[in-house]
Amino acid sequence: MITSQIHRYITSDGSARLIFADTTVITQKAMDIHGTSPTASAALGRALTATSIMGSLMKNPTDSLTLRIKGDGVLGAIVCVSDYEGNVRGYVDNPLADLPSRPDGKLDVGGAVGRGTLYIMRDVGGREPYVGMCELVSGEIAEDVTEYFAQSEQTPSVCALGVLVGREANCICSGGFLIQLLPGTWEETVDAIERNVQGFTSVTALMREGKTADDFASILFNGIEFEKFDTINTEFRCNCSKESYARGIISLGNKEIDAMIEEGKTIETQCVFCGNTYTFSVEELKKLRQKTTH
Ligand SMILES: [Zn+2]
Repeated sequence: MITSQIHRYITSDGSARLIFADTTVITQKAMDIHGTSPTASAALGRALTATSIMGSLMKNPTDSLTLRIKGDGVLGAIVCVSDYEGNVRGYVDNPLADLPSRPDGKLDVGGAVGRGTLYIMRDVGGREPYVGMCELVSGEIAEDVTEYFAQSEQTPSVCALGVLVGREANCICSGGFLIQLLPGTWEETVDAIERNVQGFTSVTALMREGKTADDFASILFNGIEFEKFDTINTEFRCNCSKESYARGIISLGNKEIDAMIEEGKTIETQCVFCGNTYTFSVEELKKLRQKTTH
């Protein structure tokens, strides 16, 4: 697959929706940018997948969704931001941090994230962004997202996420899904989904077998009539620019900029999300100084 994709399905009775994301390309890009350890790759890939899925549920081109996981584990904080089409960017505080694998051979994402809090911030153009949060259940991220929806948004949901990292710092596969029950769900639909989820093995195992998004839908909505709603292409996308950093410098005010000019050195800033660097010469700083309002 040359791009990441989100596929959305809805049951014919309108009572449940499924959003499946293949984020292999997105996670590989994040691994390339940040040089993440295997455990950090898995954690960041899962977080990017969840954020992309949740972002795709927003309505307007200017909407954005930020997921922040603040745990006390070796990875530090994980921050991901998605637009309304599921294009996503993200970073982890300590990309090189790693832990030994768990006894079952899986990467210890829960241990590396630790205990802490999951925050979801939706900026939908209002005066204040909407912020919800919940305590981390396991730090494995999918369980934490499921808990977040139950606690903070009273939307019964099931989230599963998976990232398989190869030996060559390559992403073999990355993906996940979110099932949400919509108001007025039929009992038979809930029962069928519960049965299907209980029998579900793992996202990465099925992706590795070559299962497509439609196969996932057939497994998770087994016994329920459903339709495919749409498919959208998604990517790791950062929206930083020299202009946005210039605005940041202007907002520092006269005193700060004067101090920078006094230093007589070119200022270099690096975007935490994509690693792009932006430089401002003393001449450029002097121009920005004229635009300050305080
Ligand atoms: Zn950037």
